[in-house]
Amino acid sequence: GLAGLMIVGGVMVAACSEGSSGGEGAGEEELTIGISMPTQSSERWIADGNNMVDYFEDLGYKAELQYAEDVVENQVSQIENMITLGVDALVIAAVDGEALTSVLESANAEEIPVISYDRLIMNSEHVDYYATFDNYEVGVMQGQYIVDQLDLENEAGPFNIELFAGSPDDNNAHFFFNGAMSVLQPYLDEGKLVVGSGQTDFNQISILRWDGATAQSRMDNLLSSNYGGGEELHAVLAPADLLSIGVLASLKSVGYTADDMPIITGQDADIPSVNAIIAGEQSMTVFKDTRVLAEKAVEMTESVLNNEEPEVNDTDTYDNNVKVVPSFLESPVVVDIDNYEEILIESDYYTADQLN
Ligand code: BGC
Repeated sequence: GLAGLMIVGGVMVAACSEGSSGGEGAGEEELTIGISMPTQSSERWIADGNNMVDYFEDLGYKAELQYAEDVVENQVSQIENMITLGVDALVIAAVDGEALTSVLESANAEEIPVISYDRLIMNSEHVDYYATFDNYEVGVMQGQYIVDQLDLENEAGPFNIELFAGSPDDNNAHFFFNGAMSVLQPYLDEGKLVVGSGQTDFNQISILRWDGATAQSRMDNLLSSNYGGGEELHAVLAPADLLSIGVLASLKSVGYTADDMPIITGQDADIPSVNAIIAGEQSMTVFKDTRVLAEKAVEMTESVLNNEEPEVNDTDTYDNNVKVVPSFLESPVVVDIDNYEEILIESDYYTADQLN
C-alpha cells in the first residue's frame, strides 16, 4: 500500500516488505526493477526507459526509472539509492562505462543481478548479461553508406571526408568507429578518400559525452582550417544523430544547403535527424528499435530472476576487461529517404505527424 512508498534521494520506490505488496499471483512478492538510463538529451533513451517500464509493469513488476543527465556522480548515487531501497534487479545504460565498478560491488553484496543495457559496463565482474545491438555492424553500415553514395567502387575521387567518433568512455564508440573504418580504411589507403584535416586517430576525433555542441565547434574548426579556400567536403562520418545535428548546424553556418550537403551519417533515428533526412540534409541514420531492445532486456531480467539462463547469441565479443559478458545482439537497420516511411512510420515507431 501507499504506506510503503518512500522517497530517498529523489528515487521513489515502494518498500518491498513481504506480503504487503500483493503481486500478480497469490502469495507472490511484487519485485522492483531499478532502471538507470544515461540522459534524456537524445529521444532514444527516453523511449528505452519508457518501453522498459511498460514491459516490466505488464509482467507484474514495479519499475523505478532514473536518468543521470550525463553526470557520472548522479548515476552512481541514483544506483546506490536503488540498492539501498532494495531493488531486485538493475538494468543500466552507463554514462561512463568505466565509473560503475564500485557501485556494482555494492549491488553484488546485495545479490542484485545487473543487466548492462545498450552500453557495456566495463571493469566489473558483476555484469551478468548484456542486451545491445550489433555495434560493430552499426559502424559498418555507416561506412558502407558513404562508400555506396560516393560510388567508390567506380569513382577515382579523391573525395574529402572528415571523421567523428563518440564518447571515449563509451565502449560502443570504439565499436562504431572500428566498424566504420573496416569499410573506409581501404579507400583511405588507396587515396580515393582523403581526410582533409589529417585527423584519423580515435583520440583526435572523439566527442566526450556525445555532445552535439562540441561536435559543432569541432566541425567549425575543421571547416575554417581545412576547407576555407573553396575545397569541397564530400562526406562526414558521424556516429550518432546527436553529433550529426551539430555537424549539420556547422555546415549550414558556412553556407552549405541541402543541394550541396556532404554525405552525413547518423544513428538512432531521432526526430530532428529524421526531419533532416526528409529535408535532404542528413543522408542516413542507423535505426535501432528501442522497443525490441527494451523487450530483450526485460526478458533477460525476468529469466535471471527466475533462475533461468537468458537467451544469448554472442559469447565472445564483449570483453569488459574482467570477463566476456554473455550478450544478445539485436540487428540495426539503415534508414534513409527511401525507406523511412516504411521502417519508422508503418512500424508505428513514429506517427506521420511527428515528422515534417
Ligand atoms: C548508443 C547510441 C547513442 C549514443 C549517444 C551509444 O552508446 O549506442 O545509440 O546514439 O550512445 O547517446
